Amino acid sequence: MAKQKVIVVGAGPVGSLAALYAANRGHKVKIYELRSDLRDPSTTPLNFTKSINLALSERGINAIRHAGSKSLIDHVMMSTIPMCGRMIHGKHPSGELYEESQLYDVHGRDIYAADRAELNKALLDILEKMPNVKFYFNHKLTGADFKRKVAWFEVQNSEKSSGKSSAGRPKEVEVGFDFMLGADGAHSSVRYHLMKYTRMDYQQEYIDTLWCEFQIGPNRRRKSESIFERFLISPNHLHIWPGKQFMFIAIPSEDGSFTCTLFMPSANYVYLEADTSKLPSFFDHYFPGVTSLIPPKELIASFETNPHLPLINIKCKPYHFSDSVVILGDAAHAMVPFYGQGMNAGLEDVRTLFALLDKHEATEESNDPANPAPADPSVQRSAALAEYSAVRAPDAHAINDLALQNYTEMRASVLSPAYRVRKALEEW
Ligand code: FAD
Repeated sequence: MAKQKVIVVGAGPVGSLAALYAANRGHKVKIYELRSDLRDPSTTPLNFTKSINLALSERGINAIRHAGSKSLIDHVMMSTIPMCGRMIHGKHPSGELYEESQLYDVHGRDIYAADRAELNKALLDILEKMPNVKFYFNHKLTGADFKRKVAWFEVQNSEKSSGKSSAGRPKEVEVGFDFMLGADGAHSSVRYHLMKYTRMDYQQEYIDTLWCEFQIGPNRRRKSESIFERFLISPNHLHIWPGKQFMFIAIPSEDGSFTCTLFMPSANYVYLEADTSKLPSFFDHYFPGVTSLIPPKELIASFETNPHLPLINIKCKPYHFSDSVVILGDAAHAMVPFYGQGMNAGLEDVRTLFALLDKHEATEESNDPANPAPADPSVQRSAALAEYSAVRAPDAHAINDLALQNYTEMRASVLSPAYRVRKALEEW
């Protein structure tokens, strides 16, 4: 295919992987990102806290594997921790604490704890070395004409570039393109502008649950000869303290710590915000054992310092317009995190999209050997994008639904005797 001017909006994990797929096909790739370079220590992390740890599973790993860079998948997997199952923490009526391992897979396959920022950085490092890739940080998409294929970006203030015109207003730049990939997250600007060009069905829902981040520190009592001794609890599990209406989870990090998340209805946040000294006894009641892993002072400090953030569920379709633009990742299907599939599904979007682009490029050349008309890249791309919307939307919507359902499973069903009997039989 003729090499195209490809614009990627959003340099998160999904946009960066999409840029790599496009660059490996020889296209001229420009990446526009609202924030500054996340490899710069002064950049505010997404969600204003330490980077979240997340569960990387086969869906995402497979997409990284197909990016065309052996060193990338090796690098990513080297800094992950395998999790063979979930560890359910609770208290017997006698008051005794228990933990129960529930394997994810009867065949022994794992999912992996990964640091989202590290994964993102690994992608940016590879892209930076490619001669056909250019980054534009501190550039916010503000408008797009998907018929004329032009987009407008506001240059944001930053220490490196003031981004101000001589009149003191933010500078705006106009950029032409052949193809735009919109990976600008749940509150996507690309999606907003795309809605003006296509009859997009759109559904958005905030669930009545907020999340807040905590940390279980590394095991400081023992000098770590073995990796296991670095951790206070098993590093090979995703830990869950199910509280029926609430849930506290912990995912291991390489340094021996755990990134923990409290999921709880907004009314409970309001109650605890009014008097944070109640937090340790609240935890002792609903998440037994946590206060021996996180000292009460640290628990309160994290609750007071870290933001209490909402969770959104977005479904839409189609994902494209003509041959001009397509949305991927959270921009297309932000989902609640309870199935651990938001980023994984976004990475899978990239693999699916490029497989379809490759397929249409290969099949839509002239069928008449006597009169070989040159293939028209825009016709090929239109067909590929239409097929992408058709096949991807039902899959993405199914994952959105599963993610919502899994919240009940994680915070409550794992405690039910019926669930345990079913699980025991499956494992047997
Ligand atoms: P984002 O990561 O949101 O990146 C979008 C990028 O676009 C950002 O860098 C942003 O600055 C930029 N941008 C935004 N607007 C503009 C604009 N106008 N112009 C230019 N750039 C713009 N997923 C999993 O797979 N497994 C998990 O275990 C998991 N756990 C999670 C736990 C929590 C608490 C949460 C909240 C999410 C979790 N997720 C998980 C979901 C995962 O974080 C997201 O699905 C993933 O980050 C989406 O990646 P993305 O690249 O599509 O979007």
